[in-house]
Amino acid sequence: VLRLEAVRKTYGASVVLRDIALEVPAHSVTALIGASGSGKSTLLRCANLLEEVDDGAIFLDGEEITDPHADQDAVRRRIGVVFQAYNLFPHMTVLDNITLAPRRVRRVARAEAEAEGLELLHRLGLADRAREYPDRLSGGQQQRVALLRAVAARPRLLLLDEITAALDPELVGEVLAVVRDLKEREGMTMVIATHEMAFAREVADQVCFLDGGVILERGSPAEVFGAPVRQRTRDFLHRVT
Ligand code: ATP
Ligand code: MG
Repeated sequence: VLRLEAVRKTYGASVVLRDIALEVPAHSVTALIGASGSGKSTLLRCANLLEEVDDGAIFLDGEEITDPHADQDAVRRRIGVVFQAYNLFPHMTVLDNITLAPRRVRRVARAEAEAEGLELLHRLGLADRAREYPDRLSGGQQQRVALLRAVAARPRLLLLDEITAALDPELVGEVLAVVRDLKEREGMTMVIATHEMAFAREVADQVCFLDGGVILERGSPAEVFGAPVRQRTRDFLHRVT
């Protein structure tokens, strides 16, 4: 679904991503791990065209999206993004947040979009919150709604950047459960930047360890977590687990 080739990204004199090659097959989950500042968010922002790459190319379903002639809005409609916090529109109810993309982008009729939205909320046990505004929800509930909102747009690919980082520890599990459900039930293709190592190990098909803007090590969770080859990977895992 997504492919990066020799991607390089600089901010002024500092090289933030260098020679990044990454292949994300359909229905797979890729976890990006690595220390703060290693380039995880920048990689996701480049994939969503929020940042322009300096060199290299990014492909979505075989189409080069870093081509200057690519339709950037169309590309962004095919990629769902959820960040650490503030993902919902505060002036819209939960249900309106979720039905916005289906109605505007997929041109689904309101009644149908709301039926779909309520069905999704029901699955998360949040159906009774449909008419609430986001600030009346817990952080965990807001992030679960944010995930639903991204999924309701039927993206080809979901990019998740530290979606549990702003949450109290007891709320992390309920959000990660939704991600797990998206993988298992929908076969959603996802790239996830995370500090939750146990979760990455459980849910990812592919783990990439970023260090100073390069993918220093990659492999299955068993390989990267169970038998890391690089000393820097071992040091990082020692520090965080
Ligand atoms: P974290 O785990 O803290 O989220 P990260 O792996 O997501 O870290 P990035 O946010 O991608 O790291 O940052 C990578 C590097 O790029 C850092 O050194 C950061 O200071 C730098 N950087 C990020 N955004 C900008 C920007 N807009 N301008 C200048 N430098 C930036
Ligand atoms: Mg980040």
